[in-house]
Amino acid sequence: YTQTSEFADLDWENLGFGLVQTDYMYTAKCGPDGNFDKGGMVPFGPIEMNPASGENAMRMQTGAERMCMPAPPVEQFVDAVKQTVLANKRWVPPTGKGSLYIRPLLVGSGAVLGLAPAPEYTFIIFSSPVGNYFKEGLAPINLIVEDKFHRATPGGTGGVKTIGNYASVLMAQKIAKEKGYSDVLYLDAVEKKYLEEVSSCNIFVVKGNVISTPAIKGTILPGITRKSIIDVALTKGFQVEERLVSVDELLDADEVFCTGTAVVVSPVGSITYQGKRIEYAGNQGVGAVSRQLYTSLTSLQMGQVEDPMGWTVQLN
Ligand code: PMP
Repeated sequence: YTQTSEFADLDWENLGFGLVQTDYMYTAKCGPDGNFDKGGMVPFGPIEMNPASGENAMRMQTGAERMCMPAPPVEQFVDAVKQTVLANKRWVPPTGKGSLYIRPLLVGSGAVLGLAPAPEYTFIIFSSPVGNYFKEGLAPINLIVEDKFHRATPGGTGGVKTIGNYASVLMAQKIAKEKGYSDVLYLDAVEKKYLEEVSSCNIFVVKGNVISTPAIKGTILPGITRKSIIDVALTKGFQVEERLVSVDELLDADEVFCTGTAVVVSPVGSITYQGKRIEYAGNQGVGAVSRQLYTSLTSLQMGQVEDPMGWTVQLN
């Protein structure tokens, strides 16, 4: 939605990635038959659940299947996102300020005591205007390679966008932040030698004209931004490799960057591994490749250039 008239004037410089209560959120409910009702907008407020218990649409479908949950059909998901944006249009920032972050959630509830899929579900979409995820903005972030805590194990749910995955991350992230790092880079849980991802984003390593990123094999999230950046990089003439990326490759990489809906493209200034600090792009500024990909993606997102990918949708 391109904002033209009235908008909520926020302190965009300092907004960061906090929750701002907007006007409406979307909810649709589903019982044991697995079919969601038509859903609609409700005033943004506490998420109501049954008191007895207390590209993205497709990912929700496959994720829901792994979690034994029914998912709303893709068309309903997309339509609900549009409704949510339009209902909260005064919170859509003017181009160049920030973004309206959209969070779809699927919540199981119902009177169950034992271990079993929930009998009923609510599909919720809420939105919040956000500034930068990392306070650094497009300045480099500093990561630490984690070798004690793991995010996911083979056969687990690491490849699904499910809340449970973030439970294992909280402690590692808290310790890293206390030590002054921006976030944690996880290694595979078996050989402890291959890169996985960061707590909330995917990772890319640049060496010359080759951009490498860990392959999707069930333990990392198949990021939508990861996929978009691969597509953009290919059109810019880079060679992209999805494969096992060894932690040793960090040592002689030219640049490292992270991708995610919230972090967009975040250049990495340094990575600390086993007490050794590896610096990139002189740790001064943003590497040329990271900057180029950031600019390519954000100018598409903000409608500043023609969209040859067909990723943008105009809402009126
Ligand atoms: N990995 C994890 C663990 C994440 O939480 C996210 C953020 N959704 C990503 C990667 C990036 O995914 P996407 O580009 O779809 O936001």
